Amino acid sequence: MRLLKDNIKIVHFCLLIGCLNFLFFHYPFFKFIFNSLDYRSFNGITIIICFIILMVIANSFAFFLILYLLRFAGKIVLALSFVINAMAVYFINTYGVIIDGGMVGNVLNTNYDEAAGFFSVKLLLYVIVLGVIPAIIIIKAKIVTVTFKRFLGITSATLLFILIVAFANSQNWLWVDKNSKVLGGLAMPWSYTVNLSLHFIHQHQENEKEILLPDATIKDHQKSVVVLVIGESARSENFSLYGYGKNTNPLLSKTPDVYKFNATSCATYTTAGVKCILEHKNTGELYEILPNYLYRNGVEVVWRTTNWGEPPVHIKNYLNKEALMKDCKGDGCAYDEVLLNNLKEQIAASTKDKVLIVLHTSTSHGPEYSKKYPPQFETFKPVCNSVELAKCSNTELVNAYDNTIGYTDYILYNVIEDLKQLKEYKSAMIFVSDHGESLGEKNLYMHGLPLSLAPKQQYDIPFIVWTSDNSLKQLKTENSLTQEYVFHSVLNFLGIQSPVYNEELNIFK
Ligand SMILES: [Zn+2]
Repeated sequence: MRLLKDNIKIVHFCLLIGCLNFLFFHYPFFKFIFNSLDYRSFNGITIIICFIILMVIANSFAFFLILYLLRFAGKIVLALSFVINAMAVYFINTYGVIIDGGMVGNVLNTNYDEAAGFFSVKLLLYVIVLGVIPAIIIIKAKIVTVTFKRFLGITSATLLFILIVAFANSQNWLWVDKNSKVLGGLAMPWSYTVNLSLHFIHQHQENEKEILLPDATIKDHQKSVVVLVIGESARSENFSLYGYGKNTNPLLSKTPDVYKFNATSCATYTTAGVKCILEHKNTGELYEILPNYLYRNGVEVVWRTTNWGEPPVHIKNYLNKEALMKDCKGDGCAYDEVLLNNLKEQIAASTKDKVLIVLHTSTSHGPEYSKKYPPQFETFKPVCNSVELAKCSNTELVNAYDNTIGYTDYILYNVIEDLKQLKEYKSAMIFVSDHGESLGEKNLYMHGLPLSLAPKQQYDIPFIVWTSDNSLKQLKTENSLTQEYVFHSVLNFLGIQSPVYNEELNIFK
């Protein structure tokens, strides 16, 4: 290729890379603009043309600054950005996600097992064709740079040009502002670079110590236990308890004293949803979370998890999947029922009057729904086995997802059966999901869209409660709950007095 043999001027090279960046990675960006503007109107055409010009020029200019200032290191930065862009665009095209702050947090918190679940030949093709090949060209190109004087001239001329185009479009700023979240989440490579920086700034702020709550007191000596089951990507729409057409709750629907509430999640991704379930109020701050608070005030607290993404838990009994699998025998141990292994025994062995068990499940985590339950739970067939959700028929996809709900039903039923056998305890089981899930409605899959844009499937969550008959606890009839109800209801059930307790957020009479 001539490009690799001959010298090329830095300005030409940056314009070329800017055009490639535009052509390769901005199909979703412009698809969004085309869908949300009237592209047959004069104004619509103006916005689109200005966006194309601004995108190519501004990106070329950014590449110019990087290459001029960083030289060879700049080449590596650009090459890397093409590879990451390729992956990002694959996920945007395949799952309809947006690379915003929440999504960046999700990616950073994803463990190897989950990441492996996303691997596909299509992803490999994206990375090689759109990422690796341009990266090699960038590294190998012989670029002729400019003098410092000319660098200043080019910089000021470009900035002036960008300002003029931007101001000529000032009547459209409102539209841009209104859609800034989506536009920012689809512009490469800025979606992840900006959001990654913001993520680390936030994380730094959040790593500051959790704000301790005022001390609590245990009011009585009655033996009580609450099992809080945190669901993963479970949406209420697919529970037959909530009126779904298929029987996804064959066991719970026959269990007496099971109640369901309509509820919504505070966010559409795991870390935020779980935080809301555990906190006494929903703010940007990190307050002492329920398990830490109760543990510090003399309650027996056990955390069992096959998932991730919770705020820091400071208790003695924290059991992850590896720890749980060690003592577990049978085929079910590879699935979420491992969370129930020796659970009854662990509760019975406690010397404390008050016990909180948190089971953090991962049962309906996509995209490989069909791998989240044992084969005998494949009630609805055929199922989708591909990680590229759009490749499956919608029926196959929903069947696989519904099987995870059926498996959840089985797990919750067994929690209740365990609690029934602990006769000296008054007991409760609370099941709340971290967020919902999209299954192809409006061409959206999985979750993680900003709450303001998300369809209800991503935030309408199940909130299912069971209490033992010796608890004599009646439930209030609340219309719609939020995840904040968990904290206060658990305090009420366990008989714990606290200055932060809010009776309005308690479901028990
Ligand atoms: Zn989640």
